[in-house]
Amino acid sequence: MPRKIWMLDIAREQSPTLSHLYQYASHALESGYDALGLYLEHKFAYECAPWATGKGAVTRDMVISLQCEFPSLQIIPFINLLGHFEGFLYTEEGRQYREEIFTGLQACPSCPEFQKLCHLMLAETMDVFQSDLIHIGGDETYQLAKCDKCQARIPEGTEDPKAWLYAEHFRPLLQQVIDAGRTPGLWGDMYLDHPSALEIVPKETIIFDWQYMNGLGETSTKFSNFRVYGCPTLHVYNAPWMHVSGTEENIRAVAQDVHDLNLEGFCLTQWEGGLFGAYDTQLPAVKWAAQIADNPSNPTSLVDAHDEESGQRTWANIMGVELEKIGGVFKYSKLRNPLKARFLLYSNPFLCWMHHHEQLAGPQGEEAIALCEKALHYAPTDAEKNATIFVRSAIEFVRMADDARKLYAAGDADAAIGKLAPMRYLFENLEKAAKANYDRIGGSMADVYRCRTAKLHVETVIRRIRDYGRRELGYLPAFEVITNPRFMPHDQGCWWLVNKWANE
Ligand SMILES: [Zn+2]
Repeated sequence: MPRKIWMLDIAREQSPTLSHLYQYASHALESGYDALGLYLEHKFAYECAPWATGKGAVTRDMVISLQCEFPSLQIIPFINLLGHFEGFLYTEEGRQYREEIFTGLQACPSCPEFQKLCHLMLAETMDVFQSDLIHIGGDETYQLAKCDKCQARIPEGTEDPKAWLYAEHFRPLLQQVIDAGRTPGLWGDMYLDHPSALEIVPKETIIFDWQYMNGLGETSTKFSNFRVYGCPTLHVYNAPWMHVSGTEENIRAVAQDVHDLNLEGFCLTQWEGGLFGAYDTQLPAVKWAAQIADNPSNPTSLVDAHDEESGQRTWANIMGVELEKIGGVFKYSKLRNPLKARFLLYSNPFLCWMHHHEQLAGPQGEEAIALCEKALHYAPTDAEKNATIFVRSAIEFVRMADDARKLYAAGDADAAIGKLAPMRYLFENLEKAAKANYDRIGGSMADVYRCRTAKLHVETVIRRIRDYGRRELGYLPAFEVITNPRFMPHDQGCWWLVNKWANE
């Protein structure tokens, strides 16, 4: 039987308390996992980087307590020591480590202070976590060789400069883990793009081959000299709630390949609890994945893994299967779901209207709202209810905004304001739901503030339409302009937008 890890991303603004961690550990054990992986980034309270400790970070004492309470479960740290360092880089003390200014998520591997910090973080991690496996990240380092310092270090004639920088950075870190008598783990993606970097990797290292759309057939053979974990995911980041069929196909395909290729293990990854991705709504899928890891031909479907009596199965089928069939913004794709990102991530929910009103203001929007209403009826607990209210609110927002735009364009500013006003209550209710997610499962506090910010923005837009919606400027700004946070009266040509430096 392959070893099974359930890896939980707590970096996306999650703030689990000790009791939440106990719940996750209990669920891991009950489901048959050998290990619970905590994907941390800046969400661990490092003594070597106290300046990066945000509220709600997991502490040394919490991890020690978790390990004492669950001695039969390995608690594996998943840290990141180059890419995905954004939680450090966008702080005042951490900005010195960045590869580029105000973009991306990678630190500079040629910054001596950063190299020193990596060794300190690694030492501290190994001091706190007792697991044999220490995962040191290494994924998505797309910004390699961007800065002058990195460019200058690359030896002349180097065939793949990115591979060279990557290998130089990780070689001593991998060695530090091995010297401590532990086993290092690394994500596999950068080696697929830069295979020569693999040449320096010690044979003791375990490669985590993450493949979320297919199985491992194309990739894991490239790591044939290493022990490999196959890593599927729950398709949450790309879904209004979760894409059930895509999740099922991915987990079955990876589990089958882990068996067929006789790999070391199976690591279920669960990402992005922000944007209302409440982890407790996904626990049945986590449990089901462990059964599939043991037996990829297990006939139980992912929908059937949900409890029927409580209504959870019907709810999961509506939110995870039926909604997807509408297509458009609900469809299965590899990208982050545009509905939820545009609704809450960019501090301007009107982006969601701009891109999706053609679909959502019409019959497909009505159909989606009807599905959400039905799902609410079957939702067994607040967890499922809140996940549903989030999706319904995004659709309703787009429809209200579209009504408002038509009235605004027709010159009826008062009636347009009348359509915008209820949006304030929509975001007030969502804020309550976000706060409930935070209390219940250690969900994203940023979501609470996202809702609050959206409501304030709606109030700003109402004020602007009151001030400029009757051609007070001589012209009527386009609806996507007057609703943009950077709208400026009299800047009729939108110079804040047309210049390509707009985000700098
Ligand atoms: Zn650099």
